[in-house]
Amino acid sequence: MTDRSDLHDKMDALIATARRCFEVGLQTNAGGNLSVRLDARDAIVIKPSGVGFAECSRENLQVVGLDGRIATTGGGLKPSKDLDFHLELYRIREDINAIVHCHSPWATGYASAGIEIPCLTVQTIEKIGRMPLIPLSANGGPQTETEIGPVFRDPAIRAAVLANHGTIGVGPTLMAAQYLAEIIEETAHIAYVRDTLLAARGMAAADVPRFGTAAQERAEVG
Ligand SMILES: [Zn+2]
Repeated sequence: MTDRSDLHDKMDALIATARRCFEVGLQTNAGGNLSVRLDARDAIVIKPSGVGFAECSRENLQVVGLDGRIATTGGGLKPSKDLDFHLELYRIREDINAIVHCHSPWATGYASAGIEIPCLTVQTIEKIGRMPLIPLSANGGPQTETEIGPVFRDPAIRAAVLANHGTIGVGPTLMAAQYLAEIIEETAHIAYVRDTLLAARGMAAADVPRFGTAAQERAEVG
């Protein structure tokens, strides 16, 4: 694969994923960001600051080396505020080839209340397992690689939620990371509906059965 065809393939996949993320309502305005690792060199393609998910194009995306050097400025736009945590996750996890970070409202509502989203559906247990809630940085600012990196050093972690901020889904491909971003949001919505209905009936989460997975059952039997 040539550097150029790799670059264009990854840019086009990022543009399509960003549009999907916008169309399913996970990210409006110019917030959030997403990136993908290049195969042909030690670099990533990332959405710059100030560009909406629906407005990504080959002309405005940036190419940044894993060492932090900006190779293509995307028409002189400012790099993403979250560039450093993207780079850190690619450096520490070879299995991560794509990252989708968005401010989807149900999940960010949980994160802003300081509540970890419970993995309560069979799909979430199987696909994610757990999505840790990462607190704000020590100075009260947005999370950086200092807070996010250590959580993702655990190779089992595929998704996390940032307090007062948003969500992170990672994966071997952009679509895999996007699916996780969607599952995080869907799970937060389901959890809210469940907890609202339980509260209306004077019940607590502890009163309802906990569903395991077929894999867990097999492990317990074995
Ligand atoms: Zn953000």
